[in-house]
Amino acid sequence: MSALSFDAVRLPPECDALRREVRAFLAAEIAAGTYHPQEPGNDHGFSPEFSRKVGAKGWIGMTWPKQYGGHERSFLERYVITEEFRVANAPVRLHFVADRQSGPVLIKYANEAIKRDVLPRICRGEVCFAIGMSEPGSGSDLFAAATKATRTKGGWLINGTKVWTSNAHHAHYLIGLFRTSPASKENRRHGLTQFLVDMKTPGISVNPIYQMTGQHDFNEVVFQDAFMPDDHVLGEVDGAWKQATSELAYERSGPERFLETFYVLQELVRVLGANPDVRGAEGLGRLVAQVHALRRMSVSVAGMLHAGKEPVVEAAIVKDVGTIWEQALPHRARDLAAFAQDGASNRASFEEQLRFATLIAPKLTIQGGTTEILRGIIARGLGLR
Ligand SMILES: Cc1cc2nc3c(=O)[nH]c(=O)nc-3n(C[C@H](O)[C@H](O)[C@H](O)COP(=O)(O)OP(=O)(O)OC[C@H]3O[C@@H](n4cnc5c(N)ncnc54)[C@H](O)[C@@H]3O)c2cc1C
Repeated sequence: MSALSFDAVRLPPECDALRREVRAFLAAEIAAGTYHPQEPGNDHGFSPEFSRKVGAKGWIGMTWPKQYGGHERSFLERYVITEEFRVANAPVRLHFVADRQSGPVLIKYANEAIKRDVLPRICRGEVCFAIGMSEPGSGSDLFAAATKATRTKGGWLINGTKVWTSNAHHAHYLIGLFRTSPASKENRRHGLTQFLVDMKTPGISVNPIYQMTGQHDFNEVVFQDAFMPDDHVLGEVDGAWKQATSELAYERSGPERFLETFYVLQELVRVLGANPDVRGAEGLGRLVAQVHALRRMSVSVAGMLHAGKEPVVEAAIVKDVGTIWEQALPHRARDLAAFAQDGASNRASFEEQLRFATLIAPKLTIQGGTTEILRGIIARGLGLR
């Protein structure tokens, strides 16, 4: 029997009302000039003002317990928010990582005082988190991490370097994976511990790394004798490998994994116009059918997470198929636009967005786990390796 199972989940009716509310909110924000959805290349991804408004609407920490500022709503309602914000290119960079994965890690593994302090601030849209996993010599092989946490009086001293750390230049906190003991013979994953790092701690420097587009999204983060108090250890000392991998199902399966360049498809529809020729219509139909299938798979994973399952293999499939589709989208859109009649009013913005989407395409199949790594997980899940 196949180890794969995509439950046939549909979004429940309460999601429709929420979707209408979100669309009205976004339309009002765009009309008010808070941000421009057709400008993917600017720094509008990061907006403290917008994040605070989203927090005030109750759309951050939606599934978290009320005692920590959350709203105890379902993963499927959260799905609607993520989807609508992504499609509208909304500036969620400040709170997105905290909402998707850092908050859930704190709920599971932080002590009570930290939960009461940090989680409500995340829910209000005030706190930006970064993820400190990758290192210069340890990317796909997360468990080779060498940045050390050494015991000292009342806590730990961190020394080493993390790299590709998205948002570190904006972040208030980072959840870091550090080596607290050597790996053991029996278990090479042993010896890593997760810490909540306050980015104001002396001994931490953040150096920018620029994307091909010229944007500053990620960084190198250097730790030199940075002190972490004992109560900032998250979960079990030396046992973080169990924690870090379950976090990845949340990171991999959301609609952001195939909607990051969705604006290309929307612009293509406008370029082809109301009466595309057969080739244009067929090509567009294929793209829409494919994104629809991806969405059904991604909603299914959200439904399974909601039901308390751990759909690690299914999440890996959504990320693999989704990012490959998305990476090919600019090329396919360029080909199809060749069939468009002259005179589309959005031709210039289509070309500009195509250029931007082409430049960012290579990263899509690297961030959050490379294609090869995902296929390894899928093969193992299917009993093929
Ligand atoms: C835009 C972006 C944002 C990112 N943000 C963050 C972040 O916020 N925090 C963070 O910690 N990291 C972040 N990363 C880093 C990302 O997680 C790593 O780049 C990724 O895990 C790959 O690691 P690597 O770059 O060291 O490549 P490597 O692991 O060296 O891989 C190089 C190549 O070898 C292949 N490969 C490696 N191992 C195997 C294997 N066992 N079998 C088959 N093929 C293999 C890979 O698929 C890849 O093609 C980000 C990356 C990008 C592009």
